[in-house]
Formats: sequence, C-alpha cells, structure tokens
Amino acid sequence: MYCQVIVDIVHENVARPFTYLIPEGMELSPGQRVAVPFGRMEKEGVVTALTEETDVSPEKLKAVIRPLEDYAAIPPELMLLAREMAEENHCPMAETLRLMMPAQMRGGRIHPKTEKTACLAVSREEAEKAIEENKRGGKRNELLRLLSDGNPRPVRELEAHVKDPREALKKLHQDGLITLYDAETMRTPGSSFEEVQDPGYTLTAGQQEALDEILPALAGDGGAFLLHGVTGSGKTEVFMAAVRSTLSAGKSAIILVPEIALTPQMVSWFRGRFGSVAAVIHSRLSAGERYDEWRRIRRGEARVVIGARSAVFSPVRKLGMIVIDEEHESTYLNDRHPRYDTRDVALSRCRREHAVLILASATPSILSFARARRGDYVLLEMPDRVNDHPLPEVEIADMREELERGNRSVLSRALQQALKECAARKEQAILLMNRRGYHSFVSCRSCGYVVKCPNCDISMTYHIGQNDGMLRCHYCGSAMPMPSACPSCGGEYIKFFGAGTQKVEEEVQKLLPGVPTVRMDYDTTSGKDGHGKILEEFRSGRARILIGTQMIAKGLDFPQVTLVGVVAADLALNLPDYRSRERAFQLFTQVAGRAGRGSLPGRVIIQTYKPEDQVISFAARQDYRAFFESEFRRRRNGLYPPFTKLARILVESPQEAIADRIVREMDTAARELLDDHPEWRRKILTMINDPPSVQFLRGKHRRQVLMKTLVSPETEAFFGELSGMIAAPFEGAEVYLEVNPTTMI
Ligand code: ADP
Ligand code: ZN
Repeated sequence: MYCQVIVDIVHENVARPFTYLIPEGMELSPGQRVAVPFGRMEKEGVVTALTEETDVSPEKLKAVIRPLEDYAAIPPELMLLAREMAEENHCPMAETLRLMMPAQMRGGRIHPKTEKTACLAVSREEAEKAIEENKRGGKRNELLRLLSDGNPRPVRELEAHVKDPREALKKLHQDGLITLYDAETMRTPGSSFEEVQDPGYTLTAGQQEALDEILPALAGDGGAFLLHGVTGSGKTEVFMAAVRSTLSAGKSAIILVPEIALTPQMVSWFRGRFGSVAAVIHSRLSAGERYDEWRRIRRGEARVVIGARSAVFSPVRKLGMIVIDEEHESTYLNDRHPRYDTRDVALSRCRREHAVLILASATPSILSFARARRGDYVLLEMPDRVNDHPLPEVEIADMREELERGNRSVLSRALQQALKECAARKEQAILLMNRRGYHSFVSCRSCGYVVKCPNCDISMTYHIGQNDGMLRCHYCGSAMPMPSACPSCGGEYIKFFGAGTQKVEEEVQKLLPGVPTVRMDYDTTSGKDGHGKILEEFRSGRARILIGTQMIAKGLDFPQVTLVGVVAADLALNLPDYRSRERAFQLFTQVAGRAGRGSLPGRVIIQTYKPEDQVISFAARQDYRAFFESEFRRRRNGLYPPFTKLARILVESPQEAIADRIVREMDTAARELLDDHPEWRRKILTMINDPPSVQFLRGKHRRQVLMKTLVSPETEAFFGELSGMIAAPFEGAEVYLEVNPTTMI
C-alpha cells in the first residue's frame, strides 16, 4: 500500500503530494498526520489519499516513518476545503492545511497532557481480602480503600488523602494489586466569562417566523440565510434556538463572533445554556488549552463552538449549522496569508456538509445584501424591536452652526443638555469618538512640521494628560517624549492637534463634575482582559458615561443606556477608502442601536459638519434599504467591488532602491503577461505603478502596482499566474498579491 502526502513545506516546487510506502503493519487513513523522510530530513505531512499502486520506481520510494496521531487530524470535509482554498488562493495546499489545526500541533510543539494515575488491578473482593490480610494497615490499606470502587484516580488526588503515597503505591503495583499508568487529561480553560442562566424567553412572532424558515433547512439539506434585523430585534435568540435544534438533531454548530473579547454577554449566555458540550475558543487560551479544546471538538465531545473567524475551521462532528453574527464586520476577512473571507469559507462548508448558514446583522454588508437580493441567501427580516420597544430618535447637530454661535467645545449644546438630563435621571450614556490615536497628531503651528514615527510614515499620537506626555506610534508601538521645541524650525508653537477620546472625557468631566466616566479605546484596553473590566465598570453602573472608539459599537446590550452621542461623524466618512461610507453607516446605526434597549426610550445625537451628507440622513432615519440602494448604485457607477475587484502587488523592503526596482519589474512582468494574453487584458480595467498612501511602515519602504479588474475567470487566471510569479523569493524584499484587502494603506 502507498499513500499520497502533502509535506508541510510551503514552497512552489513542492506544492504537490508525494508518494510514500506504508510499512507492513502500519494503518493510515486520509487526513492523518505522518512523519516522512524528505530529502535528508524528517518532515511532517498530511496523508491525502491511499493507493494500491504507484508509478514511482521502487528504489526511489521511501517509507512513512510513523503516524503522528492515531486518528485523522483533518476530517475529509476539511481536506476538501483545504484543497479548494488552495486552488482559489493560488497557493500550496500545505499552507491551507495549516489553518485546519492548532498552530502548535505542527512541529510537535504540543502534546496531550498526562497524569500519573492509579487503578485497582484486581476485583473488589480480592482488594478487600488484601486489606484484611495486611494487619499492619497504614497507607497501603488506605490507598486500597480509596481505590476500591474500581475507578481510576490521579495520584495527585490520592495525595490529598494520604501523605506521601508514592512508595506504598509502587509496592501495591509490584504486588499486582493496582496498576500505575500515565492517563491523558484535558486542560480545560478556566472561564473568565460568567455563566448566565437561560432566560427562557418565549419567542416573539418575528423571531418565531424567522426560526420557522430556518428549521426545515436544518432538518433537510441545509441552506443559507441572511438574518437582517434592526438593533434590539432579538437576533441572538433566533440563532440560539436554532442551535438548540441543531444539538437535539444530533448535529454540531459553530457560532462566529467578530471578536470574543467584545461579546462577553453572548459567551455568558452560551456557557449557561450549553454547558460542557460547548467550547469557547479565544485568544487568551494557552497553547495547551487550545489544543485540548480542539481535540474535544474533533472527538465530538464539544458540539457547539463559539469563536472568532478561525473557528470556522473547527473539525466538529456532523456540522449542522454555522452562524456568523455581525456579519458585516471586517474582522471576518483574514488579511494574512492564506487570505480568506470567513463568510465564503462558511458558505462553502455548509454547502458541502448540507448545513445551514446564518449571516446575522442589523447592517448587512453591501456584498451580502446584494447576494440575498439575487437569491443566493434567503432574506429574513425582523424590522421591529423586541417587546415593542421603539427604535431611538435620532437628531443631527450641525457643528458649523455651533461654531458660529461661539461654542468651541467638542460637545454641541444639544448634546450637553442631553447629557445633563441623562445624568439627572441617573441613566447611562455612550459617547462615540471614532477618532483613532493617529488623528491627534502633534504639529508645529509655525512651520507645519508633523512629528512622525521614525519607523513608519505615520504621525505619532499624543495622549493628553496621561502617559507622561509621551508620543506613540499605533502601528509599531515605538514611543518618544513630546518635543518642547519644533525639531524642524526650533519654534515653540508645537502642539497636539484635534481631539480624541481623552479630550471628550475631559470635557464631560468638566460639564458634569462628579459623574463617573469610563473610557474604552486602544490605550485603556491593551492590558489583560482590559475590555472586560471596562465593560463591567459600566454594566455595574459604577460608571455612568462610557466614552470610546468604534469598539463600543459592537453588540453591547445595556438596558440603562438612554443616550448615545456620535461626537464627530465626519471622521468616519472621510477615510480614504471606497468602503468608508458603508463602514460609517454601519457604525452610526450600530452605535445608535445601543440606546433605548431596555424599557426606557432612547435618544441619539449625531454631530457633524456636513449634515447634508446622505449617509448621515440615512443613518438618522435608520433606513438600511435606502442606504443600500444608494451605495449599490454608487459602487456600480464607480466600478467598485462587488462589481469589480481591487487588487495590488505590494512590495516591501528595508531599502528604498530595492522596493523601487522590484515594483518596476513586477509592473513590467504583469504587463508582459497581459500582452501574451489579450483575453485577460480585456478584463483588467486599470493597472498603475503608484505608491500606497503609507510609503514607509514598520521600517519598510512600500510600493505597489494597483489594479482594478472585472470579476471573471480570466481575471482569476491572471491572478493565478501573478501568484506563481511572486512566489519565488526576492532578495531583500517581500512581495504580496492582495485581492480586495481590508485596508489599502
Ligand atoms: P439584536 O442582536 O437583534 O440587536 P438582541 O439579541 O441583543 O438583539 O436582543 C435584544 C434584547 O432583547 C436582549 O436584551 C434580549 O435579551 C431581549 N430579548 C430577545 N428576545 C426576547 C424575547 N423573545 N422576549 C423578551 N426579551 C427578549
Ligand atoms: Zn511606527
């Protein structure tokens, strides 16, 4: 017998399976990991197929050294997925297979944990006889009594009852009364999430209707759904009910959330409802815990998995359903190699495994909604909030007018008034300042010099009143003291520019002295469980006003929040990206949706210098449909995705000259490819060698060839050829092909 093995080396030249002989007596199955000789080294690989015959001549044939586990680490469905993803990404399958298992499993960096365990080796009667015969009693008899029910017990546990039992255990083992062996144990992650009991809601009519569409698909051949429900419509309950049906049908479910740390409530419910059949995969798990959770899933002991995007590859037994909550979030795109869109991977898995896919959002991505309209997904709409809670009232504050009236505060008079009233009623408020650190840059008012990071072409961030006046880079983490004079002209008018979350917090504290506030942004959440602590501070009511960046917009459900303020809407609208309008609309709608979720009505104030902007008024009316239609038209007319693909060849090098030279070579080579293939060239709309907006990042110079293409098989063939071209190593530079990346900086 022979087997085909994908060796765990990522290189174009070895991007195919190799044939190995299976030694007499070794049993292997596809998906199993093996150690094989490769050149003069021993390498790990994955068996893709077994064959009876081979064309490889016997003297060239080498034999499998040993299996790495006694089971197939990668089940057949995931083998197929890895192959499909490799083809789509134009990359070796060795690379996509790595997605399918915990990283530390490769290279034998992690092993099952074992524990010395003792177990009775004789019958109960014989053990009792031995106790009677041994008149001296002591430890020996105590141990035998502890083990007399026949259950194995870890030695560690016996030590709690009997002092220093090891010598006595050894004797018992020698006498044949007990066996001592290494038993495998699971590292179960201690939960940092509390468990919350199932509230046992009766579904509303809207929820029941949605569920009634999903259940037949679950019992049948699967299907794909887009669950579009306004904020507070109770989408979570719909898919929790669907998960329960999945489990009682004997199948498994995967629930994906944008980021585990930002969804503590969902995780708590989840643990409370599903208990030990649930696995929660998050970034704070140790390597051992992650490995053991993965094995619990692989064995079918854990049947519901909740996690961020990589959990889409969980090797669950009998997949019944995948839920993607807040499907519009950009965290579902994996920008690192091999690149993937979690939503596409999930759809492919569900189709192959006859499972149900549910994409849920109050503000679906343009792409997903367009697909639903085309009929690729069944559209389920929930236009009303649970318990007839109204959607919050949204007002727009014109900041130009504020300035005219002499109000120089970052808070409009309307927002100030609303905050005062909210505080007087002892309710809670959320203020969104979606200005990331790099906006509050430091510049010289005399010569215009801007303090930039020495490693990156990005301005340093100033943190008002904190961090001992240090400037920090949000891309590479470097820091420097605030200069007292301008490094360029020597002038003294060097100051920070613009406001961030800290500035907003200061103004709120001045406006409402004594009202406790809490801030959630890049800086306050960096520590261990930073998010959790801040949210707890707010949930408990100790803090009454939460001020934060876009991270506060996600999925939070605080019934005491009656006021939401968007401090500077323009910042979200003016980012240099074709998706900025989509993201701005999502952000405003999501954050507005945090207000009025309990029995108290909600109020939202959006501050802007441009009230006539359509996105602002769609968001104010919370009219997703109108926004979608307008944005869809804009994308079609401007030839943006999903009508086209944006792609680039990105070159990065510590040396500018090398980056320049290689990008020119890439540009030329790409053009030559198109010259050779006129049928491809027709599908490429534009292709220019034009530097990216950030030309220096983390110590590397960056150049790019930017392309806009039609969506077509020819385009894919072209990208495939390009991938092959850039796969060769480049001296002193790294070259990437990025198709529809999440950011284009
Ligand atoms: P969404 O995700 O659609 O914004 P959630 O799932 O967070 O909405 O639900 C909003 C609120 O309504 C939550 O506090 C939830 O506990 C509550 N809720 C959901 N379904 C019901 C129900 N059937 N009866 C009563 N309350 C419900
Ligand atoms: Zn930097």
